[in-house]
Amino acid sequence: MNKKIYILLGIIAIAFIVFLLIPKENIEQTGNEKVKIVTSFYPIYVMTQNITDGAQGIELTNLTQNDVGCLHDYTLLTSDMKKVEKADIFIENGLGLENFMEKIIGTYPNLKIIDSSKNIANKIEDGDEGTNPHIWTSIENYIIQIDTITNYLSEYNPENASIYQENCNKYKEKLNELKLKYNEELSGLKGKKVVCLDEALTYLIKEIGMECIQITTNHEESTLSADTIKNVINEIKNENIKAIIVGEEAIDNAKTLENETDAKIYKLDSCMSKNNNSDKNSDINADDNSSENINYERDSYISSMQNNLEVLKQILENS
Ligand SMILES: [Zn+2]
Repeated sequence: MNKKIYILLGIIAIAFIVFLLIPKENIEQTGNEKVKIVTSFYPIYVMTQNITDGAQGIELTNLTQNDVGCLHDYTLLTSDMKKVEKADIFIENGLGLENFMEKIIGTYPNLKIIDSSKNIANKIEDGDEGTNPHIWTSIENYIIQIDTITNYLSEYNPENASIYQENCNKYKEKLNELKLKYNEELSGLKGKKVVCLDEALTYLIKEIGMECIQITTNHEESTLSADTIKNVINEIKNENIKAIIVGEEAIDNAKTLENETDAKIYKLDSCMSKNNNSDKNSDINADDNSSENINYERDSYISSMQNNLEVLKQILENS
């Protein structure tokens, strides 16, 4: 009898020690210490701003400037590394977009990393370029990214889990509404072929069901060779393509294609920088007394995608 009790007590003691040894996953919010969250760049910052809106005891910072654009060729500044040094959680887009992750993980091995692309199944392969990482221009993908960030933030910072979840649901409601509008108003674009000169817009174009002839331009920074231009002009003519889609102010490449064919240039917003739509947005937000920058940023994805919807409707009208 006694022996059994000792064995039982022994088991309980071992279980208790094992429990103590398991590393705690969540970050404790002790005293005035805030949980510091750093995002890699603007789209992820906007997502996280929506999710953490109104949460207590957190500090949200964007690693890079809001107008930096894509991070492909980005080199970390000393001041960037300082922001990460104090961070508890780092949120990245993933799929290799942040080419500096190795350095961050190597320097701060205890930093919790949230990869927002973790559950994305819809990935576009761009031949030699590998997986196209600009997943957020698909509204469906964007919603999955929001969910992933929300789930991990809730795990790492359980004190705010319910507010994260609530914000996520509210935001998703707006995004689903937008998605519905896209489906309803752009169904006529399904199967239409377009030429796209900005890799960041491929996901948006494909989500609508358009066929995308993707020309690699590194976000329109590289000039196309004479051969490529010639081939694309032929393709536009042969396939009777009516739209050339760009993400930046029409560059020479696009103008050449427009001049030589019947196709027209249309500019869409890849929702990558604050710069792209700041003028339009300041008008939109003037009504609801949110002159604060922060509100404009929070809604920037939705208003950019609303502007894109209008441009896409023009393509539909003209094709
Ligand atoms: Zn990019």
